[in-house]
Amino acid sequence: MQSRADHFKANATERLQHAGLQANLRRFGQRFASARAAAIAELDDFAGLRQQAAAWRDMTLPQLDTWLLRFEEAATHAGTQVHWAATAAEVNRIVLDIARQNGVRHVVKSKSMVSEETGLNDALKDAGISTVETDLGEYILQLAGEPPSHLVAPALHKNAEEVADLFEQHHHTPRQTDIPTLCREARAQLRPHFLNADMGISGANFLVAETGSVVLLTNEGNGRLVTTLPRVHVAITGIEKVIPNLTALAPLLRLLPRSATGQPITNYVSLLTGPRRPEEDEGPQQHHVILVDGGRSELLGSELQPALRCIRCAACMNHCPVYQNIGGHAYGWVYPGPIGAVLTPAYLGLENARDLPQAATLCGACEVVCPVAIPLPALLRSWRQRSVERGLRPWSERLGLRLWRWAALHPRIYHWLARRLSRLLRRAGGPAGQLTHVPGLSDWTSGRNLATPDEIPFHAQWAQGRRR
Ligand code: SF4
Repeated sequence: MQSRADHFKANATERLQHAGLQANLRRFGQRFASARAAAIAELDDFAGLRQQAAAWRDMTLPQLDTWLLRFEEAATHAGTQVHWAATAAEVNRIVLDIARQNGVRHVVKSKSMVSEETGLNDALKDAGISTVETDLGEYILQLAGEPPSHLVAPALHKNAEEVADLFEQHHHTPRQTDIPTLCREARAQLRPHFLNADMGISGANFLVAETGSVVLLTNEGNGRLVTTLPRVHVAITGIEKVIPNLTALAPLLRLLPRSATGQPITNYVSLLTGPRRPEEDEGPQQHHVILVDGGRSELLGSELQPALRCIRCAACMNHCPVYQNIGGHAYGWVYPGPIGAVLTPAYLGLENARDLPQAATLCGACEVVCPVAIPLPALLRSWRQRSVERGLRPWSERLGLRLWRWAALHPRIYHWLARRLSRLLRRAGGPAGQLTHVPGLSDWTSGRNLATPDEIPFHAQWAQGRRR
């Protein structure tokens, strides 16, 4: 996928003007957040379960090579062909090779974020192979020619009216706005594609090293059709998805749907182990798994490694005040929200996504809700530090930080300056106590007023015991 992550500010500014987008974001954000809260409240010990899930994810990451080789051995034993891809270009080449070897003309896809990373649909199209996305949200976006804007609900930014327009235009059927009718219409359109497809492509939620299985969690049933009806199934997945065994899967299965949509479990949980066996009458004749690095191994052993625990539940973006105002497209690449702000600089290079680590208030909500306890604010701060060290922030910001650092190391001067500045700002804010313009902070004040500080600075109140 073509990245626009280096245009984050312009992207975000544009999205902030869309009242319709904001309404959609708020509606879905609140719905997902309350559904999650209710589902998590049903658990006896969310904190304990989260700790377990994080521990299982942390078990494989330090020896990822060993666990991947174990997965490869078990999967190969089950008849799966395992491929290794270091880059996006390699992924596309492997898929095209498999397609050519099998005379594939028509592909159906279930949701795969890694294939978004590699721009696989375009590569297939260039090779003359038709591809149809079958996840309802992805199907809508394919018609609209847009990338996903959310990890779990990719077309969350669109309302029923917009979908009705798209269906009318592409299906040449009478316009319907009733959501169940739109779903039935999409299902009728997709059914022949499932039946005619030579190859199915999916992602993977997890890879089980012990059994060589690909685990897929879906709600719509399209995942099962994509992975079992066509004669070839290809699962494309990041190398970080491997877990040791089925015991590790249990806490992750309890947490992922709850954190994503508030469901205790998804409608379908599939464990795909090898191709169809001689005694079976369903399933693909060939089963391939492509293990994709794509920048992931760079994170191993670094302070950013915890980001690889991510199970793509989207809870962090459903609770992020920044995502809730600008939506996923503003982040400019495959992964939006707080986890996107951490992963995109890692996968594309910090210089190509330098503003993303700034796209957070560091309120901490993302870390609180993350089912695998990824310390997202700390990881964002780490990127911010690297940005400054590499000279990627504007000179004014770097100068400001240097001055602040110098003052902070000289407490007397710092306190004296803080008192003077507080007084000055209070005078400028007038009786309303609001500043509408502050030189050097126009990015902040162009969108909202800045409240004037207390007469007594925070550190002085702290020293007096007035703040605890
Ligand atoms: S970072 Fe955590 S909350 Fe966000 S998508 Fe990943 S697992 Fe879910």
